[in-house]
Amino acid sequence: MRHGDAMPATRPIPHPRLWPRLAALLLAAACCSLAVAADLARFDNFRDRKGVPMELKQVAPDLWFLYDDLSSNAAFLVSDDGVLVIDTRQHPQHGRELIAMIRKVTDKPIRWVINTHAHGDHYYGNPPFRALGATIIAHRDTVAGMVKNEKLEFGRRQAFFSSQGLDAKEVRTVLPDLTFDSSLRLQLGRYPVEIFYWGAGQNPGDTMIHFPAQRALYIGGPFARKNWSNMSFTPSIDGWIRLLERIAKMDVDMFLPGHGDVGTREDVLDEARLLADVQAGVKQAIGRGWTKEQIVKALRFPQYADLRNYDRVDVFLEALHHLFTTGKPLFPYP
Ligand SMILES: [Zn+2]
Repeated sequence: MRHGDAMPATRPIPHPRLWPRLAALLLAAACCSLAVAADLARFDNFRDRKGVPMELKQVAPDLWFLYDDLSSNAAFLVSDDGVLVIDTRQHPQHGRELIAMIRKVTDKPIRWVINTHAHGDHYYGNPPFRALGATIIAHRDTVAGMVKNEKLEFGRRQAFFSSQGLDAKEVRTVLPDLTFDSSLRLQLGRYPVEIFYWGAGQNPGDTMIHFPAQRALYIGGPFARKNWSNMSFTPSIDGWIRLLERIAKMDVDMFLPGHGDVGTREDVLDEARLLADVQAGVKQAIGRGWTKEQIVKALRFPQYADLRNYDRVDVFLEALHHLFTTGKPLFPYP
């Protein structure tokens, strides 16, 4: 599926009697697509800012973590049997850069790629990995989200692409090859890798990857350290909070987030607390009969004002208002 392809050059010319109706239809379509474009711009996830410089760090034996504050994180495990990569970043160019970073560490083949959730900033780097012959793995609901929200994902990343000088026309959705429902265990040389799903947190399909030998857990969607996470996809804030509390009980030494630096148990619980506070605030306001506009205007959560993405809080509050008044996320899938 490629974005930005031109329309076919030859199309049948309609009969003149149909022209007024056709003109009206075209006008309606143009207005509609403009409205959609404007709407997508509202959900654009990028505000240009000065981020922490990107850093690749070895966090455990043979486990590397790419902390990319301006965009999104990734990780890779190196074994005698090859390399496993978690998330491919936000553009094919980012994917190629990640491959170059891996090549500085090892010349072993890149065999496995995992897409942790259905947000383009975590899988738009898939094409060069597919070209290398890697098998791309994701939860079945993640694949459903990638298909259903293809236009949304592409549309809401335009500001990022242009601010970073990345060619949007190069972006295409490369879907995973292999899906799982609850868990999958890989053996890479002497390292076991446990891939599992405990239900939706931030998203249906939120996948976690446990490296028992490295005592590390990668959590792409539900955990973003010192960050406001997008709340437009979750079917349940309570479910998301329970998931984070369960994750925090895992016997590991580090929690690797999809956004933000390497996290501790307490960082994971901080995100659960933020979600609980924001949920309580919005539900209380709805209970008082406040409108969506009143909620967005009045609720500010100053205790969380220094976290990443605070400038997007209005859109998150709207999403929660939608979730709590309709029982459905703003962008539901599968
Ligand atoms: Zn993300």
